[in-house]
Amino acid sequence: MQDRPPRPPRAETREIVELKQLKSLQPELASAIDLQLALVEMQRRVQGRVPLPRIALDQDWARSQQAAGRPLARFADIPLEWTDFRLTLRQTADILLRFEALDRADFDRIVALGRDGNALEPLVTQWYNDSSGVEAGAEPRSRQMADAPAGLEQVLVLALRPFLSRCAEALSPQVDLASWNYGHCPICGWEADFAVITPGAERRLFCGRCVAQWSFAPLTCPFCANDDRALITSFATRDGRYRVYACDVCRRYLKAYDARNAQRNVMVAVDTIATLPLDAAAMQRGYVG
Ligand SMILES: [Zn+2]
Ligand SMILES: [Zn+2]
Repeated sequence: MQDRPPRPPRAETREIVELKQLKSLQPELASAIDLQLALVEMQRRVQGRVPLPRIALDQDWARSQQAAGRPLARFADIPLEWTDFRLTLRQTADILLRFEALDRADFDRIVALGRDGNALEPLVTQWYNDSSGVEAGAEPRSRQMADAPAGLEQVLVLALRPFLSRCAEALSPQVDLASWNYGHCPICGWEADFAVITPGAERRLFCGRCVAQWSFAPLTCPFCANDDRALITSFATRDGRYRVYACDVCRRYLKAYDARNAQRNVMVAVDTIATLPLDAAAMQRGYVG
């Protein structure tokens, strides 16, 4: 019998390579980068086994949803396999606990919830419906979960991402997002958590939950729609790679990668971490993320 050759290591994605490079350039970010690497690798594994859903979008319905500012992904559209979701939830919580991004007591409550099928399924369904505002009549983007352990929402956002982003992949090519001029995500209704300034000086926002992207006016606040540019404070890193837009009405801010003079394309998983010092700068000026 012949010895099998050793299995070649799994190819690293550009994101993983960039994160590792960032770690050697900015060792003070090492712990945040290790956390991100663990999350990215886990989500990539999950996403690899989630099928791209076949969604035949009704164009009339899609147009009426968009006209009403409502997103397109209904909970039933998400290719969610509960056993796999439960495992992903558990692994997400494990990673956050390991990097001290979750308290032990909250971790215990979240893991207990994840085991209880009778509790978890209605909770996730309700949370998605309320926070997306996809159903007519739902309270738009209500993000309050009564009596929930701290950190549950963060765990849900991260654990749902590999499934929900498949849904965004299936839906995005079927619709024209050019007329969508809301600050929330056209696919899942969540908030933007990062942006890119394109070489054509257009600003595109990235959803913090499904990672869909859409164009948005460069100097309008995506959180409160303030478009008085005298009330938008913008500042850049010294190398000009990154920029912050902060709103003096609602006090929230959004970070962006400036691709106008950049060597590479935006990578949300990398750039959100590379800009952690900008979060500190924005918070020091009294803004909130
Ligand atoms: Zn989204
Ligand atoms: Zn605002």
